[in-house]
Amino acid sequence: MNGRILAMDKTIHEQVQTLLPWFVIDKLTGEELELVNRHLHVCEECQSDFTWQCKLQATPPNDETELNVDSAYAKLLPRLIPT
Ligand SMILES: [Zn+2]
Repeated sequence: MNGRILAMDKTIHEQVQTLLPWFVIDKLTGEELELVNRHLHVCEECQSDFTWQCKLQATPPNDETELNVDSAYAKLLPRLIPT
Protein backbone atom coordinates (compact mmCIF):
# COMPACT_ATOMS: atom_id res chain seq x y z
CA MET A 1 0.00 0.00 0.00
CA ASN A 2 3.02 2.30 -0.26
CA GLY A 3 2.00 4.00 -3.50
CA ARG A 4 5.04 5.55 -5.09
CA ILE A 5 2.79 7.85 -7.05
CA LEU A 6 1.76 9.53 -3.80
CA ALA A 7 5.35 10.20 -2.73
CA MET A 8 5.06 13.88 -3.58
CA ASP A 9 1.77 14.22 -1.71
CA LYS A 10 3.21 12.46 1.28
CA THR A 11 6.08 14.90 1.39
CA ILE A 12 3.70 17.84 1.29
CA HIS A 13 1.52 16.16 3.91
CA GLU A 14 4.53 15.77 6.19
CA GLN A 15 5.53 19.37 5.63
CA VAL A 16 2.03 20.53 6.44
CA GLN A 17 1.95 18.38 9.56
CA THR A 18 5.10 20.14 10.71
CA LEU A 19 3.73 23.57 9.82
CA LEU A 20 0.25 23.08 11.30
CA PRO A 21 1.03 24.33 14.83
CA TRP A 22 2.42 27.52 13.33
CA PHE A 23 -0.55 27.81 11.00
CA VAL A 24 -2.94 27.56 13.97
CA ILE A 25 -1.26 30.42 15.82
CA ASP A 26 -1.15 32.45 12.60
CA LYS A 27 2.64 32.55 12.26
CA LEU A 28 2.95 31.40 8.66
CA THR A 29 3.57 33.68 5.71
CA GLY A 30 4.12 33.44 1.97
CA GLU A 31 4.83 30.00 0.49
CA GLU A 32 4.37 28.11 3.75
CA LEU A 33 0.99 29.67 4.37
CA GLU A 34 -0.08 28.91 0.82
CA LEU A 35 1.16 25.33 1.06
CA VAL A 36 -0.86 24.65 4.21
CA ASN A 37 -3.93 26.42 2.86
CA ARG A 38 -3.88 24.44 -0.36
CA HIS A 39 -3.21 21.11 1.33
CA LEU A 40 -5.95 21.57 3.94
CA HIS A 41 -8.52 21.65 1.15
CA VAL A 42 -7.52 18.21 -0.11
CA CYS A 43 -6.40 16.35 3.01
CA GLU A 44 -8.98 15.21 5.56
CA GLU A 45 -6.33 14.08 8.00
CA CYS A 46 -4.76 17.52 8.12
CA GLN A 47 -8.20 19.11 8.38
CA SER A 48 -9.03 17.12 11.50
CA ASP A 49 -5.56 17.79 12.90
CA PHE A 50 -6.11 21.47 12.28
CA THR A 51 -9.48 21.41 14.05
CA TRP A 52 -7.94 19.53 16.98
CA GLN A 53 -5.05 21.97 17.28
CA CYS A 54 -7.43 24.91 17.17
CA LYS A 55 -9.36 23.46 20.08
CA LEU A 56 -6.08 22.92 21.91
CA GLN A 57 -5.12 26.56 21.38
CA ALA A 58 -8.55 27.77 22.47
CA THR A 59 -8.40 25.88 25.75
CA PRO A 60 -6.66 27.93 28.42
CA PRO A 61 -4.34 26.13 30.82
CA ASN A 62 -6.59 25.11 33.68
CA ASP A 63 -4.19 25.54 36.59
CA GLU A 64 -3.28 29.07 35.65
CA THR A 65 -6.88 30.14 35.13
CA GLU A 66 -8.01 28.71 38.44
CA LEU A 67 -5.07 30.28 40.20
CA ASN A 68 -5.79 33.67 38.69
CA VAL A 69 -9.46 33.46 39.53
CA ASP A 70 -8.65 32.44 43.09
CA SER A 71 -6.17 35.22 43.68
CA ALA A 72 -8.45 37.77 42.04
CA TYR A 73 -11.30 36.60 44.23
CA ALA A 74 -9.10 36.70 47.31
CA LYS A 75 -8.19 40.31 46.56
CA LEU A 76 -11.80 41.24 45.93
CA LEU A 77 -13.27 39.49 48.95
CA PRO A 78 -12.16 41.95 51.65
CA ARG A 79 -13.68 44.78 49.64
CA LEU A 80 -17.00 42.97 49.28
CA ILE A 81 -17.44 42.43 53.00
CA PRO A 82 -18.47 45.66 54.72
CA THR A 83 -16.40 46.34 57.82
ZN1 LIG B 1 -2.28 16.10 4.98
